[in-house]
Amino acid sequence: MQLELPLATAPAAAPTGTLRYIQLGSEIVSYRFRRARRRSIGIMIDDDGLRVAAPNHAPIVEVETFIREKARWVLKKLSEWRAAPKPPMVNWSEGSTIALLGAPVTIALLPGRRGISLEHGQLGIGLAPRGEPAALRKRGIAWIKERARALLGERLALYAANLGVPTPSLVLSNARTQWGLCHQDGRVRLNWRLIHLPLHLVDYVVAHELAHLREMNHSARFWAVVGRLYPDYQQARIELRHCNHRLPIL
Ligand SMILES: [Zn+2]
Repeated sequence: MQLELPLATAPAAAPTGTLRYIQLGSEIVSYRFRRARRRSIGIMIDDDGLRVAAPNHAPIVEVETFIREKARWVLKKLSEWRAAPKPPMVNWSEGSTIALLGAPVTIALLPGRRGISLEHGQLGIGLAPRGEPAALRKRGIAWIKERARALLGERLALYAANLGVPTPSLVLSNARTQWGLCHQDGRVRLNWRLIHLPLHLVDYVVAHELAHLREMNHSARFWAVVGRLYPDYQQARIELRHCNHRLPIL
């Protein structure tokens, strides 16, 4: 079950899929189209706009009919997407800041040092002679993802113990449109960008996904399980909704 919350972070690389166009009412709408091993056509709006996925053998006519049937929804969501504030870009340079666990961390470039360390609110990044800015960013993100894996693994183990289930295996996700996802087979997928949020919100997402191990739905029974693991979940849901557009683009 997926915790579907719009997550406003821009792509690190070019968006995937073929670019196609369709006329909806008086508007020509572009969308990214991708074929996948799936049973039905899926459409969504992410940070790059409209995205459509279709089963490998679905004729394109069928895909276009499907989009037209959803035209009202698509046009409404696209106009919301255009109006939404875009998140800030992180500039990987001396003195710029990143939020880690809800607190600002300042980047310090340390010539002649190796590795990356976090101390007293400062993210010290060792700088090789003639270090490329692109490499710096890549190393920084890799480091943050590693921290995220450690943190999320730890929270998952903690809440799994509270729920009385073995710790599920963690898959770190890079999704731009969801915080977490619990697979039928028991694997839990968590977005590494959660590390930007305060710990209590990370915990809510972890508790939410784990509760799906008991209830693969969003029924009252499901929310009762969430409530046992994380009593203040209603407040957390509201807060999480407000975080969407503040997440930086690393
Ligand atoms: Zn859910």
